[in-house]
Amino acid sequence: MRKNIIAGNWKMNKTLQEGLELAKGLEAALKDRSYACGIIIGTPFIHLASLPAVIDTKKIAVAAQNCADKESGAYTGEVSAAMVKSTGAEYVILGHSERRSYYGETFEVLKEKTLLALKNGLKPIFCIGEVKAEREANKQNEVVKAQLEGSVFNLPAEEFSKLVIAYEPVWAIGTGLTATPEQAQEIHAYIRSLIADKYGKEVADNTTILYGGSCNAQNAKGLFVNPDIDGGLIGGASLKVEDFVAIIDAIG
Ligand code: PEP
Repeated sequence: MRKNIIAGNWKMNKTLQEGLELAKGLEAALKDRSYACGIIIGTPFIHLASLPAVIDTKKIAVAAQNCADKESGAYTGEVSAAMVKSTGAEYVILGHSERRSYYGETFEVLKEKTLLALKNGLKPIFCIGEVKAEREANKQNEVVKAQLEGSVFNLPAEEFSKLVIAYEPVWAIGTGLTATPEQAQEIHAYIRSLIADKYGKEVADNTTILYGGSCNAQNAKGLFVNPDIDGGLIGGASLKVEDFVAIIDAIG
């Protein structure tokens, strides 16, 4: 059966020293607790190689927030999937709406990034979700369908099974607006039905689908009790140990 996951996305926050302190603080806070979900922190590249020396990455797995769409070579400023993997990171967040909108990442670019991540043994946390105008026009289903078909539904089932999907309505990211549990459950169930149509019920049942968008200690439980919501991708609230731990507690 699928795994519940709480994943943090630190975005472009924390110096190296601050980030290592945050990770150590999280590990200390979780030390004597039992929790059944997977825990991931998605850090800037700069932290990745230092984290395995300060935390147990078997308990708190590490994700990059991006990787290049090219294997290696003359791509100044880029970081390849192989480099990310060589740090000990297990996951990579791909297709975040901030990368799609500020850095122009297209379906095709994300297809390449996903292929390279998988080829190098990374598990993509693949983000999809509609903008406000699309939700207002009731187009959210066709938007997420196109995002999946455009970048990851080309994968064979065995490779697709390594993905975690994160549904993140763009209008809820960093805005304080959250999808209602009913809205989130409805579209998560739809996403799972798309996966079932493409790859069959078993793959769909085993796919972890996270909710992201202003998830916090107050609203987390109401979201996570829904049958198709398997945890969260957490931005702002992952930057404070007590807030992140409260969200982990909400899923148990
Ligand atoms: C995110 O960046 O993926 C996110 C969900 O951010 P926030 O929790 O701050 O809305």
